[in-house]
Amino acid sequence: MKAIQVKQTGGPEAMELVDLSVPQPKANEVVVKLTASGVNFIDVYFREGRYKALPPFVLGQEGAGVVNAVGTDVTLVKNDDRVAWCGLMGSYAEYAAVPADRLVPIPDGVTDQQAAAAMLQGMTAHYLSHDTYPLKRGETALVHAAAGGVGLLLVQMAHNIGARVIATVSTEEKAKLAREAGADEVILYTQSDFEAETKRLTGGKGVDVVYDSVGKTTFEKGLNVLRPRGMMVLFGGSSGAVPAFDLIVLSQKGSLYVTRPSLNHYIATREELVTRSSAVFGMIASGKLKLRIEHTYPLAEARQAHRDLEGRKTTGKLLLIP
Ligand code: NDP
Repeated sequence: MKAIQVKQTGGPEAMELVDLSVPQPKANEVVVKLTASGVNFIDVYFREGRYKALPPFVLGQEGAGVVNAVGTDVTLVKNDDRVAWCGLMGSYAEYAAVPADRLVPIPDGVTDQQAAAAMLQGMTAHYLSHDTYPLKRGETALVHAAAGGVGLLLVQMAHNIGARVIATVSTEEKAKLAREAGADEVILYTQSDFEAETKRLTGGKGVDVVYDSVGKTTFEKGLNVLRPRGMMVLFGGSSGAVPAFDLIVLSQKGSLYVTRPSLNHYIATREELVTRSSAVFGMIASGKLKLRIEHTYPLAEARQAHRDLEGRKTTGKLLLIP
């Protein structure tokens, strides 16, 4: 089978198209024939070596497809079921072996591509807005990189809850998409100072929560736009890692809360995985959550997909099609 492998971590060229044998399922595993593989920023971190995996490894954390073979102990799924998963390495490939209890069924009304587009980023937007800081109607959220994969979904969920959404993006095209997703205000943070703008837009009161996936270039100013006892949810570092900082700053800026959550801890049990994925699939099937699958690439073009993602050229979801 074809797969995208990293033998030595580095830039996009570290990804090589290789021929590997199709995996065989262990007793608790299922081999899935992929129809779509999601591209996520976390793949860049693993490829670069910022997050650690032992080379050589097949990249990719998210996929959807059809059950091709089941291990001897598997009862949850059977051959030909449509399934999806995320959070396990190895989806940039034609086939992947996945523990059966990490797979979820794809319901009618949701396509394989939609499932591959929604598992990681959709469940992330869901836990951020419903659990990490459960937004309420009338509250205000600042969402950075709002036209990105997670961003567009988070804006929609926050809007559907009834929160006021202030979004940041880098270009006019992205601003339009953020508005269409439900952002009430959009700031081009590459052209104007988002701290000053957010203060102005909230009449100096500040926002209840900042959802920050950009990190290095936004974190510190984000603390300045929170209301007293507001929450900074730092969930990524697309611009780089946030440097260490003195906790006393949180007191000085208004008894703030900071958390650095990861999806894995919000889908740790099978029950939570199934409940959360069902909630997201339900939003898609009912039309409440729109996916923007703007960029699909053949598996062999994974390098270009990464270049585009890192180059801030993309909006919404990127998929690799094996
Ligand atoms: P995105 O589609 O959001 O792409 C990243 C975006 O970040 C870009 O489009 C760009 O938007 C913005 N950005 C700002 N500065 C930079 C920079 N210097 N270089 C590159 N991009 C920059 O990616 P994803 O939706 O896949 O992921 C978003 C973030 O969320 C990532 O940091 C990822 O690691 C994190 N994440 C965290 C999870 C968790 O559970 N903690 C789960 C899923 C994702 P613009 O041009 O508008 O500035």
